[in-house]
Amino acid sequence: MPTDENAVSKDFIRDLIDEDIRIGRFGGRVHTRFPPEPNGYLHIGHAMSINLNFGIARDYNGKFNLRFDDTNPTKEEQEYVDSIMADIHWLGVDWEDRLFFASDYFGQLYEWAMQLIKAGKAYVCDLNADEMREYRGTLTEPGRDSPYRSRSIEENLDLFERMRKGEFADGSHTLRAKIDMTSPNVNLRDPVLYRILRATHHRTGDTWCIYPMYDYAHGQSDSIEGITHSICTLEFEDHRPLYDWCLDALGIYHPQQIEFARKALTYTVLSKRKLIELVRNNYVTGWDDPRMPTVSGLRRRGYTPEAVREFCARLGVSKANSIADFQQLEACVREDLNKRAVRVMVVLKPVKVVIDNYPEDQVEWIDADNNPEDPAAGTRKLPFSRELYVEADDYREDAPKGWFRMSPGREVRLKHAYYIKCHTAVKNDKGEIVELRCTYDPASAGGSTPDNRKVQGTLHWVSAAHAVNAVVRLYEQLFNKPNPDDVPPGGDYKDNLNPNSLIALDKAKAEPGLANLNGGERYQFMRQGYFCADTDSQSGKPVFNRTVTLKDTWGKTENKPAAKK
Ligand code: ATP
Ligand code: MG
Repeated sequence: MPTDENAVSKDFIRDLIDEDIRIGRFGGRVHTRFPPEPNGYLHIGHAMSINLNFGIARDYNGKFNLRFDDTNPTKEEQEYVDSIMADIHWLGVDWEDRLFFASDYFGQLYEWAMQLIKAGKAYVCDLNADEMREYRGTLTEPGRDSPYRSRSIEENLDLFERMRKGEFADGSHTLRAKIDMTSPNVNLRDPVLYRILRATHHRTGDTWCIYPMYDYAHGQSDSIEGITHSICTLEFEDHRPLYDWCLDALGIYHPQQIEFARKALTYTVLSKRKLIELVRNNYVTGWDDPRMPTVSGLRRRGYTPEAVREFCARLGVSKANSIADFQQLEACVREDLNKRAVRVMVVLKPVKVVIDNYPEDQVEWIDADNNPEDPAAGTRKLPFSRELYVEADDYREDAPKGWFRMSPGREVRLKHAYYIKCHTAVKNDKGEIVELRCTYDPASAGGSTPDNRKVQGTLHWVSAAHAVNAVVRLYEQLFNKPNPDDVPPGGDYKDNLNPNSLIALDKAKAEPGLANLNGGERYQFMRQGYFCADTDSQSGKPVFNRTVTLKDTWGKTENKPAAKK
């Protein structure tokens, strides 16, 4: 899917900043911020914004602030503040000592509201929400002045103070900017600056019963912090005149708001409302479910911060909304993991192999390289013995043409070890295969090829006596459709949930070195993909998440011939 066709030159935001520096605006300073509302966990879309704001500050030797935009106490929680900070740090982004909260500015914002009243630029309005909507007009019709618009300054000061003291019921009064009820931009039709809301704030507790609206708090917070370029998403373009109006009406330092387009991602949703619904109604196991597009979900899935940042960088910024392809994200993850992941052998759906001509009590410790892409990764010892596990899928009784894996009479190579030839499959009463009886060729040790015999298939395996029982979770996309919101009339995005998005295999057999993991360790399981140890792992019982398949096969590796080695 196109990512760059809307992107302009180097990127239009950096072009604007270059120009500001050239003309000496802001004294040549660059100071950006990321302003999350702590009402949910961060997702990949937020990572794009973080990467953009932090990247600009870094590239221009500027500064980057983290500011929580916490003006709506009914939806905000400390849990979200904590998770957002942890996720930003995980991404490798540092706000140094510049952690701020809009709620830190409530006192100053209140003072400034009084200043607007005194200047005749704000008034207390008694219209309720429905009435206000009616007076506001529509996109095609102008609004009408509120009957309370011409209150005297003294009356407004008195009423606003009484709003703050808690003398009025929630929703009964608001403080509004006095701008223009006939403006073609509805955001300028006397927008609400303050509302009455009796809700305990996660930081200021019950100190306030009036809270500033986002549009009023945001620009003034930018101003207080000396932000130069206030980068936000496109939906705020129509709010920019209000951003500018407030700063000019107050006569305070005036940053530049710049808007860029949000990116969506195929096969997932990024709306916080929907993500919260998926979590609360247990469609997923939590915010950090490895199927979630949240930063914590991607982390648990095994994505690296480097891969996520690379993905964001490749997308760039543009002025037109677009959809990024999930496969591009996976490609970044593969590229990164290919360099760093240790290669190991884990059998996901095991069947036992007995090598009849191998001595019963013998164990050989075979050298195996940890990463052919990285000689510095070293080697490890793997036990080889008479009884092994291989993938049940790697055996076929009636093998089709071009089948390079196990089948009666065919020879295959066991990675790092020997050639083996399968002779018979032992079955139980139900006709299920319980064991494959094989022989090995001692002359084929360590990859040598006796008589130059060609063997096409190379299989992974583990020694049965040494194997570690493991749980392996395979994932598909959480949704069946590239755009989950693509539903017939009356439908719901949840109708597109993929019932097979999680497949847990609880009989997997791993090589012995994987017995004790903490969670977070990353591996390439030979022929099966990249995996990450899950935090559910216990001593002797590792749990793995498949991060991504080896190739872009969308999880369908089963029916392909074994990779040649
Ligand atoms: P809400 O509806 O709760 O405001 P939000 O996604 O805008 O949801 P915020 O916490 O306000 O969440 O977002 C913080 C910043 O991240 C904002 O500047 C927002 O514009 C930006 N952002 C959010 N989603 C995306 C996205 N998909 N792509 C780029 N930037 C995004
Ligand atoms: Mg927002």
